[in-house]
Amino acid sequence: MSDFDAIVTGAGPAGLSAACLLALDGRRVALVAREQGDATDPRTVALMQPSIRLLMHLGLWPGQLKAATQPLRKLRLVDDTGSLFKAPTITFDPAELGEEAFGWNFPLGLLIPALFQRARELGVEFTAADAASVNTASDSVSVTTTVGQRLTARVALAADGRNSLLREAAGIRTNRWSYDQTALATSFDHSGPHDGISTEHHRQAGPFTTVPMPGNRSSLVWMERPARAAELMALSDAELAAEIQIGTHGALGLVSNLGPRRLFPMQGLVARDFAKNRIILVGEAAHVVPPIGAQGLNMSLRDAAQAADLMEGEDDPGNPGLLAGYDARRRLDVQPRQQAIDLMNRSLLSGFTGLEAGRAAGMALLAQFGPLRRAVMKYGLAPSANLPRVMRAQQEAGHMEAVVPAQG
Ligand SMILES: Cc1cc2nc3c(=O)[nH]c(=O)nc-3n(C[C@H](O)[C@H](O)[C@H](O)COP(=O)(O)OP(=O)(O)OC[C@H]3O[C@@H](n4cnc5c(N)ncnc54)[C@H](O)[C@@H]3O)c2cc1C
Repeated sequence: MSDFDAIVTGAGPAGLSAACLLALDGRRVALVAREQGDATDPRTVALMQPSIRLLMHLGLWPGQLKAATQPLRKLRLVDDTGSLFKAPTITFDPAELGEEAFGWNFPLGLLIPALFQRARELGVEFTAADAASVNTASDSVSVTTTVGQRLTARVALAADGRNSLLREAAGIRTNRWSYDQTALATSFDHSGPHDGISTEHHRQAGPFTTVPMPGNRSSLVWMERPARAAELMALSDAELAAEIQIGTHGALGLVSNLGPRRLFPMQGLVARDFAKNRIILVGEAAHVVPPIGAQGLNMSLRDAAQAADLMEGEDDPGNPGLLAGYDARRRLDVQPRQQAIDLMNRSLLSGFTGLEAGRAAGMALLAQFGPLRRAVMKYGLAPSANLPRVMRAQQEAGHMEAVVPAQG
């Protein structure tokens, strides 16, 4: 006899979303999580329309969070590599897809507490500890926590991040690699307007991406070689503001009032199985990608929603057939996306003329051909197949019109 239908480990945005979705479906859910968010996290996350629909389903959108978010009205790619093969600037405009915004940009330090509060309201049972050990049996899985509690359920959702203990307990191996890059994340005020446009400057050490926040403020993800990133981290606010000013080519006006900053070493990871032995991987336990094209958390929310979809109405939410279905569906979404991000990143880092020429030619095609551009935009928003129920547009069509504002 299990205490719970599901145990979720890890209270990052992926685990919290999974716990909320399952609790909303009437499941008895335990959440094992020592860390409860970090208000000083400098990251913002651009969540695309399907992820917004998930938040709407959870009752978190539109709501108090909305005032802290900014609609993403356009995405611009600028070639700043200095390469012989200079690519044209491309602007992706959601109006080409009949949308007013690709999605919204959220401060992660606000999104996590909002998900926490919702999970509590939905009756998720919290254990303020880490998972210390895991045992899997043919009909259940049990997790012993660092405070000695033993919880049993039919299934466990491993949302315990890139070094997942549960993934190891399931016997799932990974492919893992490092990039010779570190991302510096921060935010800043600027004297000019951003017009809701996110700009990804492609430079030789990786993208330098500004993402609009409310008012004249933007978040920044600046990928650099590790030594250079450490130098940037050590600069005074005024010195870093001057560097950011140069990086933006002054397009946003004068840069000031920097927020907290943090370095994130760039890694890639993909699990060889996405589910096995009554353990389902969600979020960075399953896949880690560099922050290019805002794919990481959007994929993770699809993991959570796909798991909830497949479990709906199942007497045994950890049965092998369900896990096999999850594995097949998530593999189809994650692997090609991860490969595309990897290729884009490596085409910047490699310095190989052939790759540079290929990237420039690809971007020129995108700039010129509307159908290709629209296909790439659609793909960037969500996969065309197997989109989980709560993320589909038609379901909420009437309501969506009400939440997509005409102006930022
Ligand atoms: C600079 C930057 C910008 C980004 N921008 C975007 C963006 O715009 N859009 C987007 O979609 N994605 C973006 N991402 C990716 C996104 O931030 C991550 O995908 C997401 O935060 C990962 O969430 P997670 O819940 O999977 O993992 P985590 O946030 O790492 O959560 C894992 C949790 O598990 C806990 N844990 C670990 N071990 C245990 C254990 N044994 N027991 C219990 N708990 C445990 C940890 O304490 C942690 O709280 C960005 C990433 C970076 C670095």
